Amino acid sequence: FVMVVLLIRVLLGDVGAGKSSLVLRFVKGQFIEFQESTIGAAFFSQTVAVNDATVKFEIWDTAGQERYHSLAPMYYRGAAAAIIVYDITNQASFDRAKKWVQELQAQGNPNMVMALAGNKADLLEARKVSAEEAETYAQENGLFFMETSAKTASNVNDVFSEIAKRLPRL
Ligand code: GDP
Ligand code: MG
Repeated sequence: FVMVVLLIRVLLGDVGAGKSSLVLRFVKGQFIEFQESTIGAAFFSQTVAVNDATVKFEIWDTAGQERYHSLAPMYYRGAAAAIIVYDITNQASFDRAKKWVQELQAQGNPNMVMALAGNKADLLEARKVSAEEAETYAQENGLFFMETSAKTASNVNDVFSEIAKRLPRL
């Protein structure tokens, strides 16, 4: 017996945080050093086994630029889950991530599962945001937190499968 669960989720975060790279790593197992900027938003889907279920992920990868901000509600409204991505080497991207969390808490689906992903965890020597600070913030705001690297693949599948585990079964 195989259960198929459809998960609509959205990736939000500052330009350059690595949203497209995370989704490319998750969906295709690839990493591109010079990933092109996303225009508007891009759609991906991926089916994977999580525990005893087959889960279909439908992912909207948003652009992150301020000029596309007004489009964001189209993607997060009704989303079962969101991954908010920042770059651990960029403090401004962490500040921007917190703004997205506030917006989702105010406007998003109240049962939304939210993940905070501190990406580029391979660039340890350039770190600007400590894992402790992000973990504390995540706990205080009801998100779960992981540091990821789209480059090395560290924790990428884990973020997606953790979300799947936390979602109510349909
Ligand atoms: P987006 O604007 O959030 O979609 O970010 P992109 O996925 O386009 O990534 C921006 C840049 O960061 C690209 O040059 C990527 O190759 C690079 N990048 C993304 N993820 C990682 C990572 O985990 N480690 C490193 N070192 N670079 C990354
Ligand atoms: Mg992108």
